[in-house]
Amino acid sequence: MIHVQNYINGTFRNSINNNCINNLNPATGDLIATIPKSDLNDIDLAVNAAKKAFPLWSNLTINERANWLKKIANELEKRFDEVAKLESKDTGKPITLAKNVDATRSVSNFRFFANLIEELENPEFGMDDAMNTIIRKPAGIAGLITPWNLPLYLLSWKVAPALVMGNCVIAKPSELTPLTANLLAEVISDIGLPKGVFNIIHGYGNECGQSLVEHPDINLISFTGGTQTGKIVAKTAAPMFKKLSLELGGKNATIILEDADFISNIDKIARSAFLNQGQVCLCGSRILVHESIYTPFMENFVKHVSSMRIGDPLDENTALGSLISLEHREKVESYIELAIEEGGKILLGGKRPELGEKFSRGAFLEPTIIEGLKFNSRTSTEEIFGPVVTIHRFKQVEDAIKIANCTKYGLAASIWTKDTELGESIAKRLDTGMVWINCWLHRDLRVPFGGVKSSGVGREGGFYSLEFFTELQNICTFYDL
Ligand code: NAD
Repeated sequence: MIHVQNYINGTFRNSINNNCINNLNPATGDLIATIPKSDLNDIDLAVNAAKKAFPLWSNLTINERANWLKKIANELEKRFDEVAKLESKDTGKPITLAKNVDATRSVSNFRFFANLIEELENPEFGMDDAMNTIIRKPAGIAGLITPWNLPLYLLSWKVAPALVMGNCVIAKPSELTPLTANLLAEVISDIGLPKGVFNIIHGYGNECGQSLVEHPDINLISFTGGTQTGKIVAKTAAPMFKKLSLELGGKNATIILEDADFISNIDKIARSAFLNQGQVCLCGSRILVHESIYTPFMENFVKHVSSMRIGDPLDENTALGSLISLEHREKVESYIELAIEEGGKILLGGKRPELGEKFSRGAFLEPTIIEGLKFNSRTSTEEIFGPVVTIHRFKQVEDAIKIANCTKYGLAASIWTKDTELGESIAKRLDTGMVWINCWLHRDLRVPFGGVKSSGVGREGGFYSLEFFTELQNICTFYDL
């Protein structure tokens, strides 16, 4: 049992009110930690610490700050196994996923941004009589709010660029998954990062998160989470003219064209639907299949998914673990009921698996495949964020594009075809921020990441992140006196 504390001004401490929130392992229902139930008073403390630290931190050279990032990466890497285990226990995700994705990426995020600054250029625009020099200033105190599905992966994706550009940080991890954020605070404490530069406040979103967004001395909010919460965050931050980045929900289409090599890619297509039990914002939760290959595709897909092993998240052979909570499982199950009401047919799954006494209180749910729904039904267009995919037939490419765009979300899509030229021409007509062709979640950290429509505002990744965490200032010097 871990007693997680806030990390403020280089010190671990309880919330001022001393209240706590229980943190459960969603696979077993066991109590694994308590976290502070922080409020505005704790945010105030952290803001004051960050404001004090800001002059010193922002005046370091960018290379000096990059060296701090490298130290964080090295120290995190030493605790790789611990990160993976904590992430698996906290989220219910399979340990192999926690190792290969969460623990690996958290380290590489710090290294990537530490190295990227080598390529930063300071643009200048000469005029006949003057020179414009553009300089980058840190935005100030950055509030970073993250969800539970990829806890340290997404937190490090924000912390690294924020710090390297000279901001001080107040992070608010999800109350459901505080453990690796706490480990990051330990790492940062161990390497002796100047106090106040990095702070973590734990607590509920509507109390602690809301206070962070509302705080007048927080200059910038980077938020990743649900679209509904994003609306609240935007409503609070916009009138205060805070810099705002919103990475929100998705309802992504996987488009299988007539010529797709779906047999050799069936594992990748299944992965795109069910990775992390379908709890990745990029998961392809609507599969659009050309009618000429519908039957063989479905035979292969259903067979492959039914062979995915569901069970103990800490077992290396497990492909599917538990959902994040019993409440979330109920929400996902309510969509399965809705699908039946809407005329859908459950081809696979839809039930809670029998996994024995140890996991009887866990939030497990079988991977679920549903066909026969209208493409514009609620089940087919709303974000479920669980192990549930709907399958839709199409005849013409035009129909596939229409179905893919028929949702308020616009995060990502994948297209499977041997004709990559056709794939690219379809990609350009999809209303999404990202499209993968014959792959999925194939990430180059330099490229822009983010969505359109209700999937968010702004882009993260590479220089796009560095720009977001900076205020540009143009200095125009007139020569001709
Ligand atoms: P959520 O919106 O419930 O919570 C996200 C974070 O916001 C948590 O830390 C929460 O405590 C906090 N929060 C809640 N209310 C708040 C408020 N009023 N003010 C400030 N902060 C508040 O989301 P979740 O359930 O943790 O995560 C799942 C969602 O995140 C899904 O919709 C998923 O698609 C999305 N997501 C998007 C991306 C992306 O990059 N686009 C990545 C991962 C997850």
